[in-house]
Amino acid sequence: MNFSVLCCHRLIPPALQAILQMGELKIDGFIEPGHVSTIIGIKPYEFISKEYKVPQVVAGFEPLDLLMGVWMLVRQIQQGKAEVENEYVRAVKPQGNKMAQQVLQQVFEPMDVKWRGFPIIPRSGLRLRKNYEAYDARKKYEDELQKIAKEEYAEPIGCLCGDVLRGLISSTQCPLFKRECTPENPVGPCMVSSEGNCYIQYRYTKK
Ligand code: SF4
Repeated sequence: MNFSVLCCHRLIPPALQAILQMGELKIDGFIEPGHVSTIIGIKPYEFISKEYKVPQVVAGFEPLDLLMGVWMLVRQIQQGKAEVENEYVRAVKPQGNKMAQQVLQQVFEPMDVKWRGFPIIPRSGLRLRKNYEAYDARKKYEDELQKIAKEEYAEPIGCLCGDVLRGLISSTQCPLFKRECTPENPVGPCMVSSEGNCYIQYRYTKK
């Protein structure tokens, strides 16, 4: 069968919990991703606010959405609240997309995975369920993938992506930022994607 799926899906709530449990940073609040939330809704974030007393706002993708999201977080902090608020109401329903959730539930199951800069986070990734394993590239090409598995999270020499991703440093504190590492010649993954912190800082920090 000439069809395979290399499933790399990650789940946001377990990663948020891992950041909080690692205790490296004082987190005042989270802006939650609007695109993810169109599918999962609001509920999966609620345990974070309840257990860790951290305010959260689901925000959208326009600059004004993010500004509004920051304002809503500050308002919660001022009022001593820790709730999940939804700024992105034009796209995110509290219950999310039920049909998509059912399909995800049918096809995928949670698994423990390592994240760049983090240890293995329990039940933070998705893999294909047994019924769909005939399509699972990780099973079909196990030997080939094992060879590159060890390198998958290795950071290039001098790259501090792990620290950037955990919020320990700003990208600008990396000695390679804007020198050896640029979007045209990225040293690490955070400079590659338009969602990468180093790429964003490169693009929007003042010269
Ligand atoms: S991607 Fe580049 S700027 Fe970012 S941490 Fe790695 S080397 Fe430094």
